[in-house]
Amino acid sequence: MQIGVPAETAAGETRVAVTPETAKKLIAQGHVVRVQAGAGIAAAAPDAAYQAVGAEITDAQGAWGADLVLKVRAPDAQEATQLRPGAVLVGSLNPFDREGLQRLADARVAAFALEAAPRTTRAQSLDILSSQANIAGYKAVIIAANEYQRFFPMLMTAAGTVKAAKVVILGVGVAGLQAIATAKRLGATIEASDVRPSVKEQVESLGAKFIDVPYETAEEKEAAEGVGGYARPMPPSWLERQKVEVAKRVAAADVVITTALIPGRAAPTLVTEEMVRSMKPGSVIVDIAAGRGADGISGNCTLTVADQTVTQHGVRIVGETNLAALVAADASALFARNVLDFLKLILPKDEGLKIDLEDDIVAACLVARDGQVTRAA
Ligand code: NAD
Repeated sequence: MQIGVPAETAAGETRVAVTPETAKKLIAQGHVVRVQAGAGIAAAAPDAAYQAVGAEITDAQGAWGADLVLKVRAPDAQEATQLRPGAVLVGSLNPFDREGLQRLADARVAAFALEAAPRTTRAQSLDILSSQANIAGYKAVIIAANEYQRFFPMLMTAAGTVKAAKVVILGVGVAGLQAIATAKRLGATIEASDVRPSVKEQVESLGAKFIDVPYETAEEKEAAEGVGGYARPMPPSWLERQKVEVAKRVAAADVVITTALIPGRAAPTLVTEEMVRSMKPGSVIVDIAAGRGADGISGNCTLTVADQTVTQHGVRIVGETNLAALVAADASALFARNVLDFLKLILPKDEGLKIDLEDDIVAACLVARDGQVTRAA
């Protein structure tokens, strides 16, 4: 099969869906891999590295016109017209974007959105949300440490003692857990909040303190259990009590990292302007949910501006929306391995393309086929 790897064109996108490592494996399986010139350059994978493993370097048309196209980001309107009818497209295709999915249906391709894979043990190796959120959690802390004009660790020096930074993490999914682990390695003291009760033990096992907001009604408890591992919107009664507890911690914090998301909905507001005003000058907020707020600009913090770093009430607020792209080489390496693992399901060894809808992962990821949107999230 001819496999095309177009260069990513979205602003700030540095990742690539196939690395020389995964290209080599696909070529060993008998496929022809065509990489658009320069597609891997921002991820430290120059054309020569692909050529060294037997891939062909081609132009955009050569990559988009393949039987199977592998992408990090969904194609834009112009790119979608370059797909060949009957081709297969695999990538992060945003299953909540109805218009984008319709575009893929109109292009008459079979499209697989890897974000739609179930959060099951079998799907772990192809889980792009986890691999990329892990990187985002790490990078958020590194950026915070860079913006923060003090040390993270406690230091006892001849010139006096420096206190450890107080870090508050709001939302402890994959990104939040990695943010805790990274901040811990840097020597910070950490408190964290999440709606899901199962998180408490994970937070404590990483050496952080869980901000407990007990559930007072059966409705609160049921909502907190979430669905399929994901959070659901919490009742206002619980959110009000969480706000009181979070406000106290934010006022005392040096660094706040917010990661709270609810699939298919606007990111919840957890840090208000009033809370930002209560923070010390020089404090830092890194909002991983930037651009996911109800207005499409803010995030978990109302003062966040997507893709900008702003200073409000003396607090630096970082609204980077694609943190994984700032660790381009490893983000690509993990993404490409996720893609390769998914391909094992639709391109079984020594067989051609096989779309088996009995397979729960294949069925969940298939978002367009034969001119129809098959599954919008
Ligand atoms: P996510 O990115 O959808 O959300 C981030 C976090 O925000 C979640 O922990 C969520 O509970 C939290 N959140 C939502 N509203 C909040 C609020 N008001 N206040 C505080 N926190 C709030 O989550 P994710 O990182 O994609 O992880 C989702 C779940 O999937 C987790 O339970 C994770 O452990 C699980 N998971 C399972 C697998 C697997 O088994 N294969 C793989 C990856 C993740």
